[in-house]
Amino acid sequence: DSVLRVEQIEKYFGNKGNVTKAIDNISFSIEKGEFVGIMGPSGSGKTTLLNCISTIDHVTTGNIQINGTDITQLKGGRLEKFRRDELGFIFQDFNLLDTLTGFENIAIALTIQGRNPSEITQLVEKAAAKLEITSVLNKFPYQMSGGQKQRVASARAIVTNPSIILADEPTGALDSKSSRLLLDAFEKLNDEMQATILMVTHDAFTASYAKRILFIKDGKVFNELIRGTDSRKE
Ligand code: ADP
Ligand code: ADP
Repeated sequence: DSVLRVEQIEKYFGNKGNVTKAIDNISFSIEKGEFVGIMGPSGSGKTTLLNCISTIDHVTTGNIQINGTDITQLKGGRLEKFRRDELGFIFQDFNLLDTLTGFENIAIALTIQGRNPSEITQLVEKAAAKLEITSVLNKFPYQMSGGQKQRVASARAIVTNPSIILADEPTGALDSKSSRLLLDAFEKLNDEMQATILMVTHDAFTASYAKRILFIKDGKVFNELIRGTDSRKE
């Protein structure tokens, strides 16, 4: 049973006489524990595809299932709960709340879920240790480097143990050293916790960390690369 199943989706923007087909019949599935990259040039439809999977945008035709739920049919409170419980989001520009500490940013979703304080502390500290940001838990975002902010955002995404982590250009605002640290952390979450990750990027180095890469152009998947067994590990 796939964690994610995208079935023959299309997405149009605009109206009569001025229509853009941003997604042109895309289908693919992701199994539990996969680390998948979606790579393509600017304007190829990456963000639109991720937004449709993220329940932020709506497909024109087709359907998307996450753990067997057809997300195109979710609305209102059920949609909010689904997002909070099943999805982990990582954005290019971190989206941390400036008035909250690292700890508080990571803890928000757990608080809304009604977990008790000792459980929250335990889960936040465990996620922070995985991402090596224990030292910034009491700092505010302005006191953190970009790399630290993105690792706090990543801890926030995994702390609820979501079905899938959806990352949109996660290294887009980071220098190469911070990018490497973040991607090493993703690799570790994938290897050690079987975290299922879908990452969109236009950057080849970033995409190279995914174990399977779908290449998109003009709203279509035109190629797929499954990374060979890593010879370093043999
Ligand atoms: P990428 O993320 O790969 O850069 P996008 O998904 O942002 O690509 O865009 C895919 C296509 O859809 C582009 O042609 C873009 O201009 C168009 N598009 C994206 N969002 C909108 C929108 N809100 N209204 C109209 N056209 C859009
Ligand atoms: P990383 O991106 O992995 O956090 P950096 O090399 O960027 O690593 O940061 C090294 C140290 O410099 C960090 O401990 C951090 O506290 C500090 N630092 C870097 N940039 C900033 C910044 N913009 N604001 C505050 N501290 C920073």
